[in-house]
Amino acid sequence: MTEPVRYPGPTVVLPLDDWLYEARPVAGCATCETAAEALRAAKRAGRAWDRFEAARTIRRHPHGAGA
Ligand SMILES: [Zn+2]
Repeated sequence: MTEPVRYPGPTVVLPLDDWLYEARPVAGCATCETAAEALRAAKRAGRAWDRFEAARTIRRHPHGAGA
């Protein structure tokens, strides 16, 4: 019997991927545009948490069906 090889390698770090910061602001939506501006500003400033917050604001902003 051979033991299966276990790799004690580095812990897999899930990349804090861009999707966290991805957002699709809806054109003409003031809330989205404000958040999108904050997102850009935070990106320039390198403030990851602010980017995340702004992106989340956009993602979670309801626009209703057929808007
Ligand atoms: Zn919106």
